[in-house]
Amino acid sequence: MTLRHLVIVLGDQLDLQASAFDDFDPAQDRVWMAEVAEESTHVPAAKPRIALFLSGMRHFAQALREQYGPIVDYTRLDDADNSGTLAGELRRTLARHTPAGLVMTAPGDWRVLQALRAVATECRLPLEIRDDRHFFSTVREFAEHAQGRKQLRLEYWYRALRQKHGILMEGDAPVGGQWNFDADNREAFGKEGPVNLPAPQRFAPDAITREVLDLVQARFADHPGHLDSFGWPVTRAQALQALHDFITHRLPLFGRYEDALWAGEPWLYHSLLSAALNLKLLQAREVVQAAQDAWRAGHAPIEAVEGFIRQILGWREYVRGIYWTQMPDYLERNALEAQAPLPEFFWTGDTDMACLRDALTQTLTHGYAHHIQRLMVTGLYLLLRGVKPQEAHAWYLSVYVDAVEWVELPNTLGMSQYGDGGLMASKPYIASGKYIQRMGNHCKGCRYDPAQSTGPTACPYTTLYWDFLMRHETLLASNPRMGMQVRNLARLTPDKREAIRAQAQRLTPE
Ligand SMILES: Cc1cc2nc3c(=O)[nH]c(=O)nc-3n(C[C@H](O)[C@H](O)[C@H](O)COP(=O)(O)OP(=O)(O)OC[C@H]3O[C@@H](n4cnc5c(N)ncnc54)[C@H](O)[C@@H]3O)c2cc1C
Ligand code: SF4
Repeated sequence: MTLRHLVIVLGDQLDLQASAFDDFDPAQDRVWMAEVAEESTHVPAAKPRIALFLSGMRHFAQALREQYGPIVDYTRLDDADNSGTLAGELRRTLARHTPAGLVMTAPGDWRVLQALRAVATECRLPLEIRDDRHFFSTVREFAEHAQGRKQLRLEYWYRALRQKHGILMEGDAPVGGQWNFDADNREAFGKEGPVNLPAPQRFAPDAITREVLDLVQARFADHPGHLDSFGWPVTRAQALQALHDFITHRLPLFGRYEDALWAGEPWLYHSLLSAALNLKLLQAREVVQAAQDAWRAGHAPIEAVEGFIRQILGWREYVRGIYWTQMPDYLERNALEAQAPLPEFFWTGDTDMACLRDALTQTLTHGYAHHIQRLMVTGLYLLLRGVKPQEAHAWYLSVYVDAVEWVELPNTLGMSQYGDGGLMASKPYIASGKYIQRMGNHCKGCRYDPAQSTGPTACPYTTLYWDFLMRHETLLASNPRMGMQVRNLARLTPDKREAIRAQAQRLTPE
């Protein structure tokens, strides 16, 4: 047959309603999907993340075949002549079929876009890239919003999107009389911890997933992470069940305990929807709508619903805009000139720091940690320790099931590591061990003391916090939002400063 379009579908584009399918005609078009090793090895992807993408892709190919017939050109990871790269596989396919053109929904990764464009140019084929309707905004809209601004803050972008899309609005005013209920969303659990925590729905692997788990275990045996408790949604039907489960059982308390930590409790009241959203098994619009409906029905309070919607309509759209307007230079930024390597124990969880051990262990077990663990436990430690942002980025991109570069990189390099020098965050997110003590119960079971910055029981966070302030004192003194922390630093005696410096050096021997 004469082939009109070869429609490229990547592992994070598992949506039958995507723009790439707008005019899809099974009589003259084909779909191209490829499992390639490079996507799991350009950073050493953790096993749960590889398994999620491969299983999601195989289920999606099956859904495509059910809808359109045998129109999918699918390369499996273990196919004998798999070249191992997206570019190589596309080239091989184009040697067999000559379509009039290539079509795809805009990809989430700058590197992948360059690779596919290069093949299209080499094969002299037009590559049509269509807007990704999954998102509320386009990158063009964000670029217009960003024009002329030195700093890009979430709040104004979020408000503009709420107004434009009429979300949590009463006419021109925000419902509840305020845009942001952040101040109500910072509670810690009481002494007794989370009571009657609803267990999130997990999904037992079906035959397709079991085959993928075996493949990943065999092929990527030396990659980090474990597969024993793999239970992520891998189909649209499962993703919808996961959404329903969250809205029904956890949304009402999502806001109040959004920033809380608790030892041995990886999920708390979080949605666990990021992977399903990022693979496009769920639409951002339907998730936001479901939360808004829950508030209108009186099922969840405004601070929970606004807090949740802000993460998706606000942060998620905002970091995507940052990524696509700042790449590729963004990847190289290192405003604090941090040069330390990633600590080896980030790949094993083998540390005495109870908060960090918990966050790392659950990350390796499930491919998941909630936002405050990523920002204020793992991220904070790397920032205070002066780890190179690019090393931090490679780690976060490797280990989380929801990691795709457009969302991971701005969160890591910008928000968490201050590598962009304040483009995204108005100040470095730094704190001592006392913050972690306030937000959870880890310190009770830890051999360190968050109140101590020197001595044998000094909490490494607290030592490194003061050391960070000293190392960057001049820079931080010029930031009005750091005033109190810099003033506290000025109260330290020269002897105390010296003792902290020496202790910090012992902690960071590299
Ligand atoms: C260093 C660092 C790295 C991160 N890497 C990723 C990543 O690779 N992929 C990813 O999806 N998120 C990332 N995040 C953002 C956030 O931590 C995760 O989206 C969240 O923890 C996922 O869990 P959840 O679905 O239970 O989220 P919830 O707490 O239930 O939040 C609801 C949804 O809001 C969205 N969201 C929340 N916070 C953010 C944010 N800061 N940026 C963008 N979207 C957000 C997610 O889609 C999430 O599913 C990172 C954050 C930090 C600090
Ligand atoms: S004492 Fe320090 S290292 Fe230990 S749990 Fe508390 S914050 Fe973490």
